Amino acid sequence: MYKSVKNENCPCRRNECERHSNCEACVANHRERGYPPSCQRTEGAVYRNEANISERGYIYGKWMGKDDTWTISYGNVYCYLLVGTEKALLIDTAYGEGDLRRFVEEITDKPVIVANTHGHFDHTGGNPWWKEAYMSAEAAKDAKRAFSPEMQTRLESMPYPDYKINIIDENTTFDLGGRTVQVVPIPAHHGGSVAFIDSASRYLFTGDELEAGQVLMFLTETNQIQAHKENMEKLLSLSHLYDAICPAHNGTPINKKYVSDFLELDKQILAGTQEEMPNTAGFGFPPQPASEGPFSGDIRRAQYGGASVLYKPF
Ligand SMILES: [Zn+2]
Ligand SMILES: [Zn+2]
Repeated sequence: MYKSVKNENCPCRRNECERHSNCEACVANHRERGYPPSCQRTEGAVYRNEANISERGYIYGKWMGKDDTWTISYGNVYCYLLVGTEKALLIDTAYGEGDLRRFVEEITDKPVIVANTHGHFDHTGGNPWWKEAYMSAEAAKDAKRAFSPEMQTRLESMPYPDYKINIIDENTTFDLGGRTVQVVPIPAHHGGSVAFIDSASRYLFTGDELEAGQVLMFLTETNQIQAHKENMEKLLSLSHLYDAICPAHNGTPINKKYVSDFLELDKQILAGTQEEMPNTAGFGFPPQPASEGPFSGDIRRAQYGGASVLYKPF
């Protein structure tokens, strides 16, 4: 397909690449992948992986906060990649659009363990890029359930749609080499939610159970607010183990004071003394509930300090 004209002066250090020293093939490959060959890059510049732009116009972004601690953003969804000396832990996988696995493997060459904060598809959709994933037993019930038929079709076209699920619980710790990550069950927004506490970054990863936009608690048959309150008490009791919080949406990292704000707000809602907002508007949520679906009906927003909860009266 390409003339195999060898460039004897090829400056690229990737000698193992099959296109090494074949400039025409290399440039064509990089045009397709959306970033320039190494010989055409500016030293130190960060290039976006344009090949990962989804049909919805989103793209994976990435940045390193603490050492070897990466945020991978996809629209308003965050995944996290914690790289140890032996292995890496990927917390959540967004919707799985684009080629998430390649994106992750451009950050680290360590074996990647995939784990989920809970079973909602905006956190598990990319799991089928890998052969297995770790999550709670309750999360496993929902993890392969896409939000739409289109997403289900995409899931089935991915490399491992029947990926193996390994169950985690409060006794689970991931040893990544030089850093350990502890699992803390915190089910409320979802019955299978867990938090992760990382010994190296001293970050607490909370999924959808604590964030700066709002926590959604729409089940009226069980008292999610009571469960959430108990979870906040649990996280407060562990606050000597983390310095800041990394949620899955709406800003990261955020201050650990949010835990006590949410605890107070939960107490107020349970006591009926909460301050309700005039409408449901908030970071990542519209002013009015949807006309149908899970985000419809009588939804109220209550706030205290940095904490905000959307719930249905019970
Ligand atoms: Zn969720
Ligand atoms: Zn979510």
